[in-house]
Amino acid sequence: MNQPLHDRGVISRYKAYLPVTEATPVISLNEGSTPLIHSPKLSERTGAEVYLKFEGLNPTGSFKDRGMTVALSKAVERGASTVICASTGNTSAAAAAYAARASIRCAVILPAGKIAAGKLVQAFAYGAKVVAIRGNFDDALRIVREFGGVDGVAIVNSINPDRIEGQKTASFEIIEELGDAPDIHILPVGNAGNITAYWKGYREFQSAGRSTRRPRMVGFQAEGAAPIYLGHPVEPHTVATAIRIGNPASWEGANNAVKESGGCIDIVTDQQILDAQQWLASNEGIFVEPASAASVAGLLKCLSSGRCTTCPLPLRAGGKIVLTVTGHGLKDPEAPVKHGGFAPIEADADLTAVRRVLD
Ligand SMILES: *Cc1c(COP(=O)(O)O)cnc(C)c1O
Repeated sequence: MNQPLHDRGVISRYKAYLPVTEATPVISLNEGSTPLIHSPKLSERTGAEVYLKFEGLNPTGSFKDRGMTVALSKAVERGASTVICASTGNTSAAAAAYAARASIRCAVILPAGKIAAGKLVQAFAYGAKVVAIRGNFDDALRIVREFGGVDGVAIVNSINPDRIEGQKTASFEIIEELGDAPDIHILPVGNAGNITAYWKGYREFQSAGRSTRRPRMVGFQAEGAAPIYLGHPVEPHTVATAIRIGNPASWEGANNAVKESGGCIDIVTDQQILDAQQWLASNEGIFVEPASAASVAGLLKCLSSGRCTTCPLPLRAGGKIVLTVTGHGLKDPEAPVKHGGFAPIEADADLTAVRRVLD
C-alpha cells in the first residue's frame, strides 16, 4: 500500500495476486492507477451511479499496458530476447514501449492499412520492427502463433496468460475505489482478453474477501465485428479498429464471464459508436478512441430501448455501473474528424472579424 510514488505500477501494487516472485525483474512504466471518473450526465440519464474507468491515461494510452508490464517482466525472467505480437494497434504500442524499457527487441505484425495513425507512430517511435501483412488481425495472430516454438521469442498477445493476469488489476482498482464491486460492468469486446481479465479480477478479489459481490459483465461488439454475439467467426468491418476482430482468441473466456455473471454480449453500430465518442468528449470532457466509446454507446442504446437485445440490463436507481473506456482519443484522430466534419472557422486576423464569427 505504501510504495514510493515513483513505484506505483500494477506489479508493485498487486504482486500478491500476480505470477511474480523476488526473481522477476519488474519492467514497469507506472501503468495502472487510472482515474475512475464519475459521470454526472450518464448518472442522470440512467438513475444509477455511473463511473468511467479511463484507461486511456495509461503510459501508452490504453489498458494494454497493464498486461504488458506482466508479460514483459515474465518474458525477461524466462530469458526472452525478442517479443512478438499481432495487433490492431494498441498491443503493438504497449509491447514496443515495454520492450524498449526492457532493452529487448520487439516485432509487431499488423493488418496493412488498418492501424490508426497514433498507434502506428508509437510502434515506430518505441523502436519496434513493424511488418504490415496483406490480411486482417486474425491472419496476423495466426502467423504469430506459428512463432510459438521459436527459441528466445515470447508471444505477448492476450493468448499469453500473463497479459490477462496484469489486466485483471483494473477490477482490483475499481473495487478499492468504490469499496465493493459495482452492479454492472460494461466494456468493449474485441479479442475478448479484457472481459476475461476483468471477470478473473472480480472473482479473485471476492474470494480474497476484498469485495462482497461480483458485477454482471456486459460486453459490446461492433455490429460489423460481432462474432461472439452472432455465435460464429466473421470477416470484421468497423470504424473501431481496436475491436475489428472476427475470431476472438478468448471467446470462451467471454462466454464464461457472461454466463457466470448473468451478463450479456450485445452490439452497437459504427454510427452509435461515433455518436457516443463525440457525446462523451463534448459532454463529460473525456476523449476516447472509437472502440472505447462502444461501452458508452451500449449503455445509451440500452437506455433508449429499455434493455439490451440479448439480456435485460437490470438498471436500478442507486445501482453502480462502471464503464471501461479502453484507449485515448488521440490514438485515432481521423475517425472523429471525419464523422464530426470538424474544421476551424477561418477569419481575418483582427478582433472584429474574430468576434463576428464567434457571435
Ligand atoms: C485491445 C482493445 C480493445 C479490445 O480488447 P480485447 O481484450 O481485445 O477484447 C478495446 N479497446 C481498445 C482501445 C483496445 O486497445
